[in-house]
Amino acid sequence: MNENQKKCKGFKDQFINLNENELLEHIQMCENCKKEYLEMKKLSKLLQTVKQHYIKKQNVIKTFKTAAIITLTLFTGFIATYINNTNNQNVLSFDDLGFPTDEYGFILVD
Ligand SMILES: [Zn+2]
Repeated sequence: MNENQKKCKGFKDQFINLNENELLEHIQMCENCKKEYLEMKKLSKLLQTVKQHYIKKQNVIKTFKTAAIITLTLFTGFIATYINNTNNQNVLSFDDLGFPTDEYGFILVD
């Protein structure tokens, strides 16, 4: 066991107290910390990989939701217009039926 390993209080302690360069230097000399550092690096890489997949999945869901909302909005607008037009064509006003009407379309009563 060398001088560095004797002084070492564990990787967590070194990680908190040393700056990046000092930590990398310490890892070269301390076998225990090197092991923990490599484990941490592996975990970090794994998290990065998982994160990318997660973000991709989120983007697909967002795109799908947006497409669904746009489709629904257009469809609702189309249906509303269709119903309006259909109603306007089918409902005959009093004027159409030949009754005398005022400017509002109500029957004129003398
Ligand atoms: Zn150490």
